[in-house]
Amino acid sequence: MLKIGCHLSASAGFMHMGKEIVSIGGNTFQFFTRNPRGGSAKPLDEADAAAFRRFAEENGIPVILAHAPYTLNGCSADPGIRDFATRTMADDLARMEAVPGNLYNFHPGSHVGQGIEAGIEMIAGMLNTILKAEQRTTVLLETMAGKGSEVGSRFEELREILDRVVLSEKMGVCMDTCHVNDAGYDIVNDLDGVLTAFDKVIGLERLKAVHINDSKNPLGARKDRHEKIGEGTIGTEGILRVMRHEALRELPFYLETPNELDGYEREIRMLKELY
Ligand code: FE
Ligand code: FE
Ligand code: ZN
Repeated sequence: MLKIGCHLSASAGFMHMGKEIVSIGGNTFQFFTRNPRGGSAKPLDEADAAAFRRFAEENGIPVILAHAPYTLNGCSADPGIRDFATRTMADDLARMEAVPGNLYNFHPGSHVGQGIEAGIEMIAGMLNTILKAEQRTTVLLETMAGKGSEVGSRFEELREILDRVVLSEKMGVCMDTCHVNDAGYDIVNDLDGVLTAFDKVIGLERLKAVHINDSKNPLGARKDRHEKIGEGTIGTEGILRVMRHEALRELPFYLETPNELDGYEREIRMLKELY
């Protein structure tokens, strides 16, 4: 069964998001664990989480995806920022145990001139201090566009992080269609080739979620500007080929397009119809 949804505001809690995604025709959703620009999280509402677990079961929401704040940078040159990243992710993962068995995605980080290799070491080091054998959340590295000094725009870089993580069975990857396009992977004309490369370098079994976004920019632009489905350089057919691909079709798909709820509802309806 197609698993499709979009990014939702988490401010009113899990139950609210569950009802909201069902009301717009989706069966999974993504949300920020706290303000995307950082800061502290609201205290966890255990009753809301418990009610959502039942709601998800009853309404066929098979999985949800939490997204770390953008400001989280485990490979900053500033030890204070690295420390904030470590504490934030550890706290997020502790809170995710209230909705066990789901996914937590983060942007690997920006090495800010220290070099990719130094960045990879720091990111893996952070994960090694945070991950716990008993946790029930899978932590995903997002494929990045490669703007600025972002780590993770090459599959090889994600592989190197995974290789250094001790509890690597707790780790997976989330592929963002806008980001891989902007990073130079031609998913429009050679999706098979891109997925073959992904499989060789990382292994397709590591792929746990897909962000379906069109891109405002051409292949290899290293920009990361999401566009509405069908209005960018990937196109509706390009997105549908991703969703229909044998190796991807069982994964959950998340829209992060520049939309309000009504726009997401239209995109979900359109993609479900065309799918
Ligand atoms: Fe992201
Ligand atoms: Fe994304
Ligand atoms: Zn993006």
